[in-house]
Amino acid sequence: MTARVLVVDDISANVKLLEARLSAEYFDVLVAYSGKEALEVLSRERVDVVLLDVMMPGMDGFETCVRIKKDPRTHHIPVIMVTALDQVSDKIQGLESGADDFLTKPVDDIALITRVKNLARLKTLNDEMLMRATTSRQLGVGEDDAYERALAARSGRVLIVEDHARSATRLLEPLSQIHDAFIEADPKHALSMLQDYDFDVAIISLNLVNSDGLRLCSQLRSLDRTRHLPLIILVVAGEEARLLRGLDMGINDYLIRPVDRHELLARVNTQIKRKRYSDFLRNRIEETVEQAVTDALTGLHNRRYMEGHLETLVRDSVRGGRHLSVLVADIDFFKHVNDTYGHDAGDTVLREFANRIRRNTRGIDLACRFGGEEFVIIMPDTEADRAYQIGERLRACIAANPFMIAETAVRVTTSVGLASLAGDGDTPHALFKRADDALYSSKRSGRNIVSVAA
Ligand code: GH3
Ligand code: MG
Ligand code: MG
Repeated sequence: MTARVLVVDDISANVKLLEARLSAEYFDVLVAYSGKEALEVLSRERVDVVLLDVMMPGMDGFETCVRIKKDPRTHHIPVIMVTALDQVSDKIQGLESGADDFLTKPVDDIALITRVKNLARLKTLNDEMLMRATTSRQLGVGEDDAYERALAARSGRVLIVEDHARSATRLLEPLSQIHDAFIEADPKHALSMLQDYDFDVAIISLNLVNSDGLRLCSQLRSLDRTRHLPLIILVVAGEEARLLRGLDMGINDYLIRPVDRHELLARVNTQIKRKRYSDFLRNRIEETVEQAVTDALTGLHNRRYMEGHLETLVRDSVRGGRHLSVLVADIDFFKHVNDTYGHDAGDTVLREFANRIRRNTRGIDLACRFGGEEFVIIMPDTEADRAYQIGERLRACIAANPFMIAETAVRVTTSVGLASLAGDGDTPHALFKRADDALYSSKRSGRNIVSVAA
């Protein structure tokens, strides 16, 4: 994912260093050399994350942060405080100023990229929520308090998977002041607890005596119920190789032992917010049972909602230089299902098809029933390769398990067409047309196929 990061530091060598590292990871970097200049940049540019040095002459980092968080135009922008190593008082004051996370100097590469990515993702979800609220208002559908509740949520349920009793207690104590926190020493039990109950975050030790914490992470990632659960791993300094494997596997964040309680609270807080926002976006479909925007048969969004939204998403993605992919799926030989089993059976297949789509999409994806047996998924921040994986996963998930019509198992397949945003001149219409053409090429090539627009 790409994001715009504002780096604020009075020492230009520090600015250059951070700028170089972030640019190497394809972040778009803006710079400011004082708190005052930072506020100016924020007032005229779109910024996703601020990296803010604490020690600056004039307005220091704390005061700058307070001002960012007080201004309704900027208060939702995540701020990462860059503090001197081991200055616990800085972290406390940072949290009081409203900072979302910390980095200590000298800034470690993995920490920098992980922090920025996490907070940029949170910002995207936040923006997405605001945009959907606006779209709904434009369509004349009022938002209920679920939206306010999701934005206001502070505390959550946290599971600590740790078999070292003293270390577990050290985590439990600060977390319990804000959250419902639980300790589980056995990863097998942890796996079933996380399947059976609603947790918001799991903190998993990679130093368990008889088991591998990364294996638990990978199991959690592969199961439907916990695929979206935020995971934070606990590592000891110097364990970079395993940490990187964890990050590759899709863990969300990490903490290095001995764990600083302020960092612990900040990381957990970010992950809980992130989960709340994305759950909210995912559940939105069920909550807004409004004919204006929802397809009554499947509960997915309808064509009208999708078309209104596609405009905004394409415009924002083009402007922000972000990826966007569109997937079109059409059930193969659906007429045959109706003809053989009846129209009601056809409806059952459509509903189950929509469920499988829901299971294969993220909170920020927009899935809709475009009409008849044709479905569309718009995937923000998703490049062509990733979109292909998702398309292939959906195709396989439809083909692999038969659909149950009363007692009868019916094989169903789908053809898929994909297109991704191609530069400045691209339009919603052109993008959609390319995805549709790709779908027809899948149909022509024999169906049950994913095709990507040229
Ligand atoms: P192809 O593989 O080329 O897509 O073949 P197909 O049979 O799926 O395509 P066709 O467009 O010929 O037929 C689509 C059928 O979908 C015809 C229509 O009766 C049925 N259909 C459309 N909307 C609904 C619905 O809401 N419920 C049911 N049960 N069927 C529907
Ligand atoms: Mg069809
Ligand atoms: Mg059709």
